Amino acid sequence: MVIEKQPSCDDPIEPALLPVAVALARMQQAVTPVSESKRVPLRESLDHVLAIDIVSPIQVPAYTNSAMDGYAISSVDLPVDDKEVSLKVRGTAWAGKPAEASIKPGEAVRIMTGGMMPEGADTVVIQEHVQVDGEHILIDNTTSAGRNVRQAGEDINTGDVVLTAGTMINPAELGMIASLGIDTVEVKRRLKVAFFSTGDELRTLESHAGKPLGPGEIFDSNRHTLFALLSRLGVELIDFGVVPDTEAATKDAIVKASQAADLVITSGGVSAGQADFVSQSIAELGELTFWKLAMRPGRPLACGVVNNCRFFGLPGNPVAVMVTFYEFVQPTIKAMMGCTTTELQLFKVKAKEAIRKIPGRIEYQRGIIEITDDGDQTVRTTGKQGAGRLSSMCLANCLIVLPADCDGVVPGDMLTVRPFFGLV
Ligand code: AMP
Ligand code: MG
Repeated sequence: MVIEKQPSCDDPIEPALLPVAVALARMQQAVTPVSESKRVPLRESLDHVLAIDIVSPIQVPAYTNSAMDGYAISSVDLPVDDKEVSLKVRGTAWAGKPAEASIKPGEAVRIMTGGMMPEGADTVVIQEHVQVDGEHILIDNTTSAGRNVRQAGEDINTGDVVLTAGTMINPAELGMIASLGIDTVEVKRRLKVAFFSTGDELRTLESHAGKPLGPGEIFDSNRHTLFALLSRLGVELIDFGVVPDTEAATKDAIVKASQAADLVITSGGVSAGQADFVSQSIAELGELTFWKLAMRPGRPLACGVVNNCRFFGLPGNPVAVMVTFYEFVQPTIKAMMGCTTTELQLFKVKAKEAIRKIPGRIEYQRGIIEITDDGDQTVRTTGKQGAGRLSSMCLANCLIVLPADCDGVVPGDMLTVRPFFGLV
């Protein structure tokens, strides 16, 4: 007898599978950013999205000043040949003090970095390039006219739009806003995200930490991974715990979570198993957009809307949770937060070793980028790639993104990677 096979995770190509790029584009189209905003003290605005443009009330620099410690001079005094010129030093321009009196040709002012340029001066000769001779300095022709001077308004002019609405406030933006003398910021309100795990096999840390597990039981890790991922995105978290594998419990949790949040994220219960109630519940309570993707790990992924609340049903396997979160949930959350740049960075790195792959689905393998002895960068996999091996994510410092049509990698191939590391 020949068993007639149903489509499964083991098939490389399955006609009903949606390509990841198509799914992502659909998802982004469907996003409505939060409209409410609030005014917060500058430091609280970190990791929030700007609700309105930041317009500069001042010019930066506010005044023309020296970029170096040295001597402010008039460029008419710069020697045209290789002879030195002697200038009389008239005083000192300290940072934070009003400008020294103006200088005339033949004169110089000792000036500190940030000191106001005196009238008549347009060039700074750095202190290392002068010879001090009592009240005079000797300069030569190594400095060009206008060097080492920061012009008033050269960075920002009064009325310039410095940051546009939709910008995420990171450290550089926070410092930028402070540099304009602005101490409160209008930001989009935080997104409310509810999340829960599904599965009868799950034991929570709340009730079971350190206790022996019964047969067939595992600790619920996904809810903690999601807590960590969501915390990094600066959203308001609502933890709905673990929900048993019944239709009633699943529906009840989805309804309650959707009433409390802008977005609900679950893990597990989205496959075609007999204890998988998530996709079906979404379809019955609201709208199920799709749930089979041409990716590995992460083929089953439910996406939909319930009570005007967006919904993501992530797979149960811990690695699949992380990969689908990075690829789909994170850009969607950023778009919902009102952020105008939602794309994550991809880089090209040379493969250190061969990687086996069958064409059909995009694969996200856990990778390690290393610097070789000659300073080059290479990437290799962490080894076995099972979607349940969370340890592979801990070993990895990047995801290796192998496109759907890739039929294997040989050493030296340039691979696309998504690094885990970055600046704070
Ligand atoms: P499911 O999609 O519900 O069939 O789950 C797929 C696999 O992921 C199973 O081996 C589950 O035991 C595991 N799994 C599901 N939820 C979790 C969770 N919250 N923490 C850790 N593993 C999980
Ligand atoms: Mg399950």
